[in-house]
Amino acid sequence: MWDVSRGKRMTRQCRACRKDDSLPTKEWSLDAQGWACNLCVEREKKIVNIEKELKKLKAKVVTGERDVRRMLKPLREVWLEVGIEKLDNHKGVTVKALLDSGATGIFVDKKFVEEHGFRLEKLD
Ligand SMILES: [Zn+2]
Repeated sequence: MWDVSRGKRMTRQCRACRKDDSLPTKEWSLDAQGWACNLCVEREKKIVNIEKELKKLKAKVVTGERDVRRMLKPLREVWLEVGIEKLDNHKGVTVKALLDSGATGIFVDKKFVEEHGFRLEKLD
């Protein structure tokens, strides 16, 4: 891309994905941290929203991206450290759980249940 007013080549590079200035002008955003392509800007907004949700849940990201706000790389998975409690004796177990895997319910591994001595009840 050429900056006509100055007659020299612009060096625009996305601070996140490192895409260069071959993208059309309207595909770019500039803020205090520099240039970013709009795809990365959208991704950043999503990450900030996830971070807010996690704060509401008082949850902690234990793997995945460490510094969610600063990093613009794709957030592939979010693992949470959660406490689960046995209904019969109220003993707790801390476990890492995957957030929003697209599952339609809450599932737990059979082996995990057996190893931690959860009592199972047959559902109808
Ligand atoms: Zn980008």
